[in-house]
Amino acid sequence: MIPIIIIRYGELTTKSKNRIDFIKQLKTNIKIILQDFKDIKIVHFHDRMEITDLDLALTSPIINILTKVFGISSLSAAFRIEKDIAQLKTKVLELVNQQDRENFKTFKLFVTRSDKTFKMSSDEITRVIAPIILYKTSLTVDVTNPDLKINIKINQNDIYLFANKINGAGGFPVGSSGKVVLLLSGGIDSPVAAYKLMKRGLQVQYLHFATPPFTLPAALKKVQKLVEILAPYNAGSKELYICNFTNLQNEISHIQKESYRITLMRRMFVRIANIFAEQHNFPALATGEAIGQVASQTLASINVINNVAALPILRSLITEDKVDIINFAKKIGTYETSILPFADCCSLFVPKNPVTQPKLYECENLENQLKQLIDWEQLVFDTVESIEKLEM
Ligand code: ATP
Ligand code: MG
Repeated sequence: MIPIIIIRYGELTTKSKNRIDFIKQLKTNIKIILQDFKDIKIVHFHDRMEITDLDLALTSPIINILTKVFGISSLSAAFRIEKDIAQLKTKVLELVNQQDRENFKTFKLFVTRSDKTFKMSSDEITRVIAPIILYKTSLTVDVTNPDLKINIKINQNDIYLFANKINGAGGFPVGSSGKVVLLLSGGIDSPVAAYKLMKRGLQVQYLHFATPPFTLPAALKKVQKLVEILAPYNAGSKELYICNFTNLQNEISHIQKESYRITLMRRMFVRIANIFAEQHNFPALATGEAIGQVASQTLASINVINNVAALPILRSLITEDKVDIINFAKKIGTYETSILPFADCCSLFVPKNPVTQPKLYECENLENQLKQLIDWEQLVFDTVESIEKLEM
């Protein structure tokens, strides 16, 4: 009885080129995420992948890791056995006994044959195996809503045996839809926004703005921690780009009209992110903004922010309620870190009454006035040049 893991593909478009790319990307991601398991083999087929050459004790930990990999609809810990009914009878009982018997009172057999020349039909196999389970265990049959689904697949060369399928994360393999630069704050929203983008197959490159010494190293640690928590979903990537925004922040604080400072700061964020993304050939930006959530997230504000971006800005949370985002953050494990109390540069520089309906001409006016004091366009370029990559 050889243990294997069966990986079933998630949402797949039918085009064959897409299918091949999807499978290739998924396999690459799985190899990265399982790189510590040196001896295993990953084999792909048209409709599934299999992990073989694995120790039985590793099945559970590997499946746990794989439940965070996008592009997988479901997983099974399975056994490959010889095409022999006598063996099947004993192995089925072993499989049943391995299950959490507290929760399982009823069962149903699902027998399929891809080898139509096999000496017994699916019905015949069911009629032989079901009574053994009934007789040797306390389980009873329930054909409509069984607790335990016992699957027997008769293949050309062997038989696969597995119990209930485990849900995968769904979505597309990260990287199969391209890459985006996500503006990652230390807050609740942007990590959730990242997760949603990853689920659609986008690899996320994080860009965080820090304003030392106003923001503390602990705030940076918090952002790093978020990146680490999200890494299993992001094809293992722990890359984080840090932009030192202090000089620009200081200049912005000279702007007389205080209520516009946060809006102008965001325009600077987006200018920087846009240049950075273009330099790296990343075709889009992303944020964790949601409409109406704070003063800076009105349509008028989104408009003046978009105005300085040549690339599209993906806002994967735009219509989400805060409570739903919080629940989501709890589910994916980022919430506890996000609420740690370290000031972010936005929270430090928020004016008393930030403008909620900023005008484009006013933004441009104020920026022109600032240009009399300093060549901030050059400063934007210098700031982009100073972006550093942190890798954990
Ligand atoms: P979050 O919980 O993601 O911090 P928020 O509700 O606090 O969101 P804002 O502070 O208004 O919202 O920020 C809106 C978006 O701007 C964030 O979701 C994030 O994408 C980006 N952002 C804000 N501050 C930073 C920062 N210091 N570095 C990078 N991106 C930032
Ligand atoms: Mg924030």
